[in-house]
Amino acid sequence: MKPLVTMLQFGIDLGGTKTEIIALTATGETLLRRRTPTPSHDYQAIVDNIVSLVTTTANELKQPYTLGIGIPGAVSPVTGRIKNANTVCLIGEDLAGDIEKRLNHPVIIANDADCFALSEATDGAGAGAKSVFAVIIGTGCGGGWVINGGLVSGPNAIAGEWGHNPLPWRTDQDTQIDCYCGQKGCLETLLSGPGLRQQALAETGIDQTAEAWAKAEATGNVQAAKVLRDHHLRLAKALAGVINTLDPHVIVLGGGVSNLAGIYDTVPKLWGEFVFSDTVVTPLRKAVHGDSSGVRGAAWLGAAQA
Ligand SMILES: [Zn+2]
Repeated sequence: MKPLVTMLQFGIDLGGTKTEIIALTATGETLLRRRTPTPSHDYQAIVDNIVSLVTTTANELKQPYTLGIGIPGAVSPVTGRIKNANTVCLIGEDLAGDIEKRLNHPVIIANDADCFALSEATDGAGAGAKSVFAVIIGTGCGGGWVINGGLVSGPNAIAGEWGHNPLPWRTDQDTQIDCYCGQKGCLETLLSGPGLRQQALAETGIDQTAEAWAKAEATGNVQAAKVLRDHHLRLAKALAGVINTLDPHVIVLGGGVSNLAGIYDTVPKLWGEFVFSDTVVTPLRKAVHGDSSGVRGAAWLGAAQA
C-alpha cells in the first residue's frame, strides 16, 4: 500500500521589516517557522527572498504544499497587480505571477489583515463561528470578514477596511484630524494606538502611549480611567456600526490596542445603545494567535482553495 501523502500549508507573511514563513499540517501544527529581513526597497530582492524561503522549506519537508502570501496591501481585482501597499515598491507589480513563474507552483495572495481574520476564524478566537469580523487595531485598523471559513473578497478587494469609515455618533470632543488616506476623521485616527495617544494628548495635554495610559489606570489614576473609557466608548460606537451592517457571529480584536484589558468587559456594555436591537449577544474576543495570526492565516489561504 502506498504511504499517505498529506498536503502541507506554507504561509508567508511579507511585512515591512521582516518576511516570515510557516509550514502547517492540516490540523494547524507548526512544522517549521523562519524569518528573514525584508529587502523592502527592492522588488526583485523581495521576490528572490520569498522564492528562497519557499524552496528551502520545500526541500527540507519533502511534501506537497499549498502557498499563501499575506501582504501589506491588496491585489487589484481589475489589474491583478498590487495596490494600497505601504511597502511601496510592491505597488503595480504582479507579485503572484512573478513568484508562480519562479516556483512553477500556484500562489494565493491576500491582505495581511484578511490573513489575520482567516487565522482567527479557522482555529483561533472565532473557530467554529459562522461568520467572523476580525480587526487588527495597532498602528492602523485593518480588518477582514470571514463567512463559513472563507474570506469575503469583494469587487474592490477592500472588505474589512473598517478603519477608513468616519467615527459614527461623533461628539464635539472627538478630534477630526487628517488621515493618510486623504480623508478627515477616519475612525482609525481615533481608535488605533497612535490615534488613542493623539486624542488623549488633545484632551489632557499629556503625551504617552496607550500602554502607559493603561498602566496609569491600573494604579487608580482618574484621568487615565477617563481617557480609556472615552476610547472604549468610541470603539463601542465603531463596532456597533459593524454589528448593524454585518451582524457577525464573533468579533475578534488583535494588534497592540487589543491588549487593553478593559475593552472586553467595557465595550459590550456600551455598544447596546447604538445597536439596533433590544439585546446584543455578539461575543467580543481577543485574538488567540497574537502576532502569529498573520503568517498562519497566509498558510490557511492555500488550504481554503486546496
Ligand atoms: Zn482614512
